[in-house]
Amino acid sequence: MRIVTFHHESDACVGFVLNDRTLFPLTGTPFAQLSVTDLLEMSVRGRQDIVDAVTAGSQAVSLPLDEVQLLPPLSRPGKIICLGLNYFDHAAESGHEKPEYPSFFLRTADSLIGAGQPIVRPACSEQLDYEAELAVIMGQRCRHAAPEEALSYVGGYSCFNDGSIRDFQHKTSQWTIGKNFDATGAFGPVIVTADEMPPGASGLKISTRLNGKILQQDNTANMVFTVAEAIAMLSRCMTLFPGDVIAMGTPAGVGSARRPPIWMRHGDTVEVAIEGIGHLRNPICDEGERTGQVPGRTSA
Ligand code: MG
Repeated sequence: MRIVTFHHESDACVGFVLNDRTLFPLTGTPFAQLSVTDLLEMSVRGRQDIVDAVTAGSQAVSLPLDEVQLLPPLSRPGKIICLGLNYFDHAAESGHEKPEYPSFFLRTADSLIGAGQPIVRPACSEQLDYEAELAVIMGQRCRHAAPEEALSYVGGYSCFNDGSIRDFQHKTSQWTIGKNFDATGAFGPVIVTADEMPPGASGLKISTRLNGKILQQDNTANMVFTVAEAIAMLSRCMTLFPGDVIAMGTPAGVGSARRPPIWMRHGDTVEVAIEGIGHLRNPICDEGERTGQVPGRTSA
């Protein structure tokens, strides 16, 4: 199932997408109370029963996907855990050896936006950078998972742009502040459930285009720590809950590592693509010039 959250009449609504362009809302169906997390926790058979019921007959309601305002596919993840320097080439371009342990850091849900929503370049910095990443969304509660069984707890996968304000990221050894500016973490457009993806979403092309020009291009097979290893390492330390998000780090080619550096500017368009998941496209907008931004928290 390809799950989306979208904005409709001041609400965050949940639906699923067929054929990459037709959205079937759960609103107005017997499944209207189901959250994205409920769908991720469900069996493959249970989700298929929902698809069959919602799309059956002449009463089925659908919307063109390109006519709705998408929100982050999960609006309020319990936690968003990010891995830094998790592709071999990116660690090298950043002047680091292969790490023995991932650089974990946290993002807050308040920094997230959906596909199509503007990434905001803050007034206090010029150094807005992109980072294409695979997002893992947990589907089952998990603690002390062995690497061999860790993937059984995954609910699905999505695209993530770990937008970073580099000068703030490097003010101290703790990256948190530069990774949590408002409206800098793009997430979506869909969550593809794990049953429709290869194990650990490995072997997928991942790229970033800025104004159509490819600036990052790699394969998820080149991650230093795999999805299974990351889940095993994290779950030694903390319980992972359904709906928690793990952003798996970015390949080489970030703007800050280029000479001269490339920073994203007002009017630019950035696009993260992952094979089999989709295209996460966002315009860049200067703080104070945001348009079409959906304000406030949503409950999906
Ligand atoms: Mg990152």
